[in-house]
Amino acid sequence: MKFGTKAIHAGIEPDPATGAIMTPIYQTSTYVQKSPGDHKGYEYSRTHNPTRTALQNNLAALENGKHGICFSSGLGAIDAVIKLFNPGDEIISTNDLYGGTYRLFTKVYERYGIKFKFVPMSDPSSIADHITDKTRMIWVETPTNPMMNIIDIAAVAKLGKGNKILVAVDNTFASPYLQNPLDLGADIVMHSVTKYLGGHSDVVMGALVVNDDELAEKLVFIQNASGATPGPQDCFLVIRGIKTLHLRMERHSQNGKTIAAYLKNHPKVDKVYWPGFEDHPNHAIAKKQMRDYGGMISFTLLGNQEKDAKKVMENFHLFALAESLGGVESLCGHPASMTHASIPKEEREKVGLVDSLIRLSVGVEDAEDLKNDLANALAKI
Ligand SMILES: *Cc1c(COP(=O)(O)O)cnc(C)c1O
Repeated sequence: MKFGTKAIHAGIEPDPATGAIMTPIYQTSTYVQKSPGDHKGYEYSRTHNPTRTALQNNLAALENGKHGICFSSGLGAIDAVIKLFNPGDEIISTNDLYGGTYRLFTKVYERYGIKFKFVPMSDPSSIADHITDKTRMIWVETPTNPMMNIIDIAAVAKLGKGNKILVAVDNTFASPYLQNPLDLGADIVMHSVTKYLGGHSDVVMGALVVNDDELAEKLVFIQNASGATPGPQDCFLVIRGIKTLHLRMERHSQNGKTIAAYLKNHPKVDKVYWPGFEDHPNHAIAKKQMRDYGGMISFTLLGNQEKDAKKVMENFHLFALAESLGGVESLCGHPASMTHASIPKEEREKVGLVDSLIRLSVGVEDAEDLKNDLANALAKI
């Protein structure tokens, strides 16, 4: 099956009781047994719930994986991955990663004796120097937030395989429509389902997809044992959201291309970060591993004044100033004072995250209206 067909049909069966085409919201905590142990595979909803099962199977199909495992947030999913490891184990992570992931690694799991090394991964050959006999996993995020750097997943996966190290990819920014890390050799793909998969800014959820049965068994054990599972109502909303994932991603990518080009030619804009540009430093890798380039764009202003960036964002009518991304509506954010405020200014600026940087999550509205919104707001500075 091709992607758009899988988005709508994979894992979804008409309800056996009524033929309902939409998976029912099985809003139940428990299931009646005829005699102890005589049940239909469902005993308690932390462990299994039919609405969640349908979503998990659908997500696995979208990532060309065997096992989908859902959590109550993206961070809940990452937390389950780190629980695979023991004190003394080492994890190599990209240095350019989601702030919440960095916080979980350093503020929670370092206390439990797991060691993290944060290294730049734009050139994957530099990772090899950091591998020791204690290295158990390489954590990749691509494209990165908010600098839109691209990491070569196949090259990192090869390094992992050669050294018996798991490779996990946070695929939130790309969504399974743009990129499938398991096909490129990764062992674990992680999503903040909150973003493009849900797609309507109405659910917080996370997911993992893996191929290996043994790894899946360990992660499913943690899912149930730690208990960060999503409820059936949220699973239903995501099943519904995914039915248009391919259509939304096509439009996000089209609009992304239009807006990136518009910003690049704007006299008040300095740099524009978008992996679809041929002069993006890792464009060749983006072209190789992604189907299209999506709607996440960051840009800076000439003169690099924070007050100008704030003024632009205050004057948007369509781009709403809000955390998060990946919904049908366009959003904007100011990483220096919002998502990345805890990173020291000098550190931020080394990677280009300057005070005038604005991050856009370009939605699926009409591109002409979005361009006008940018034109009006930029005219105010
Ligand atoms: C939002 C996000 C997360 C965390 O997901 P939650 O659903 O907010 O817990 C992880 N990684 C990336 C890249 C994200 O954008």
